[in-house]
Amino acid sequence: MNEKRIIFVSHCVVNQCARARGIKTKLNGKVIVKPIIDFIIEHNVGMIQLPCPEIKYEGLNRRACGQNHYNNQLFNKICKEYAEKIKKLILQYQDEGYSIIGFVGIEYSPTCGITRTTLGNGKIANEPGLFYKHIIELLDNIVPSQNFVGLPLNNPSEIEKIVQQLELIIKKE
Ligand code: SF4
Repeated sequence: MNEKRIIFVSHCVVNQCARARGIKTKLNGKVIVKPIIDFIIEHNVGMIQLPCPEIKYEGLNRRACGQNHYNNQLFNKICKEYAEKIKKLILQYQDEGYSIIGFVGIEYSPTCGITRTTLGNGKIANEPGLFYKHIIELLDNIVPSQNFVGLPLNNPSEIEKIVQQLELIIKKE
């Protein structure tokens, strides 16, 4: 097993204060992302926090929106520039013998969704959010697609499944 391991997490996995107004950070009084953070600490994996494109675009005090609000030239430019920096960083770590466990995104986010993203007007698409589209495209052949997982913040039982998925990825290292 490779002891030099890195995982990338969406900004608000670590800093839940970054989320748009009204987005849940707790369920039944429990911090939703705790099982993921516990997993990372217990497995001694280096954690890198991604930047939040929505904060860069419109600041902290923003309402929750779908892609119909964010899918424009400026927002995509922000996402692409961040994704390019992440790729450079990953290549540096790989040159030093680190393996990239993967990425933890936020399901239903228009920006950081992995398999589900909010389009707006109540519509959901089964595809990555705008930021992860750029990341996944740039990391093709560098990080396998199955190593991208998304946290469904509204469903803690699914979060346990995500932890199991991460366990499987680590066992293959
Ligand atoms: S853009 Fe991504 S990191 Fe920022 S608050 Fe939304 S889900 Fe979290």
